[in-house]
Amino acid sequence: MAPRAFDAGYRALPISVQKLARRARGAVPYPWVRGLTFGALHRHFTRHDRWSTAELQRHQLAQLRRIAQLAERHVPAYRARLRQAGLAPGDIRSLADWRALPITTKVELQDAPEAFVNASIPAHARQARTTSGSTGTPLTLWLTKRTQQAELAVMFRGWEWNGYRPGDRIAVCAGALSGERLGPAHAPHTRYRDEIELSPSHLDERGALAYLELLRTFAPAHFRTYPSVAMMLAKTMADRGLEPPRVRTIWTQSETMDADDRAYIEASWGAPVVDYYGMQEKCVAMSQCEAGRMHVHSDFGLVEFVESDFPPLCHVIATGFYNDAMPLLRYATRDLAIPETTPCPCGRALPTVRRLVGRLEDYLVDRDGAPVLEADATIASLTTIRECQIVQESLERTRVLVVPGRHYQSEDGDELARRLRQQLGDGVEVTIETKARIPRTKTGKQRFIVSRVTSNWEP
Ligand SMILES: [Zn+2]
Repeated sequence: MAPRAFDAGYRALPISVQKLARRARGAVPYPWVRGLTFGALHRHFTRHDRWSTAELQRHQLAQLRRIAQLAERHVPAYRARLRQAGLAPGDIRSLADWRALPITTKVELQDAPEAFVNASIPAHARQARTTSGSTGTPLTLWLTKRTQQAELAVMFRGWEWNGYRPGDRIAVCAGALSGERLGPAHAPHTRYRDEIELSPSHLDERGALAYLELLRTFAPAHFRTYPSVAMMLAKTMADRGLEPPRVRTIWTQSETMDADDRAYIEASWGAPVVDYYGMQEKCVAMSQCEAGRMHVHSDFGLVEFVESDFPPLCHVIATGFYNDAMPLLRYATRDLAIPETTPCPCGRALPTVRRLVGRLEDYLVDRDGAPVLEADATIASLTTIRECQIVQESLERTRVLVVPGRHYQSEDGDELARRLRQQLGDGVEVTIETKARIPRTKTGKQRFIVSRVTSNWEP
């Protein structure tokens, strides 16, 4: 999740100072509550909102020249690459020029992270982040505070497209709590003036019921969370015959969500879902607009769609404009998407994607090694299953972890296994294991698919 200005070092403060700081924050109006940097960035991105394609491209080329120049001067890995490609940053005049630079892979970043660090930024001004190993490739990344504020600013731009207004109350259930823990141990939360934070790691049945009650009393306008959390709470409400807490919109992020899940969440909560897509590497950000399309914040980072071996799927290759501590140029995100070619009815020139299909690690592959794109269909209409995770151990063997809801019967599991076998191919062994809960990553995310089969269709 995007960190906030407030949390760095917060927990190191004595409780009395934390309380004072909270009270002070409560008195500051938006957007200054998130700091001066945020306010300036927010205004900057808001101004770009209605730029034409030509204006955006001019801006992107200027940003590419700037970040390439910085990389050439201060980042060892790129000094060599730019030279080898015969690319002088000052000479980048078109995206065709830019494509002379070879793609940077996650493996290269993993093998020698220090080679990608901008040595001219003092150590105290950059923060190291280790991404969870949930994708099988843990990474160490360096960011600046400005990087994080820039991402938050484009996130807010996206939410504003969908009706967020300063002063609206927000409930967040994504990532770790950023402040003092309030409430019972089984359902801790943090509270600011306009914002309440819940912990996605405390979502067993008891925690879920407590959080639903808390949402009812706090009455947020918007609920920012992972699709798996919105889904899990929706199923808890259905099981218990509870009315949903009233929210105007549900802001989702960090996990892929198929059309059925989205429809189920929207129907259960009686509120539209607005999705955001970002990544720890902070080189790409996308937000859903009021017309329902996912727009690339192409003034936050350049995104190139490079055709994969399975068209129309394209590799998402990105260059971030806001991480001077560790610039990533033409970075292969390992995400796949289908770009949209027609303009969006909302009128914004920011490019759009028709479909985001997630990471290479988030795919099942059939016996012939081809990606299974509709794996989510296997769970469709099996509403007695509260949560589920498909673990592909090998081409021959797949395990499914299932958290049964109140009305679950073993036939539901059998049906799920039958549908999966149909997609994966004859002779594939599919086993169902019922669990009390599905393990979540360090930041509380849940993965629907965990693949231990390495695909070889890199960009
Ligand atoms: Zn749009």
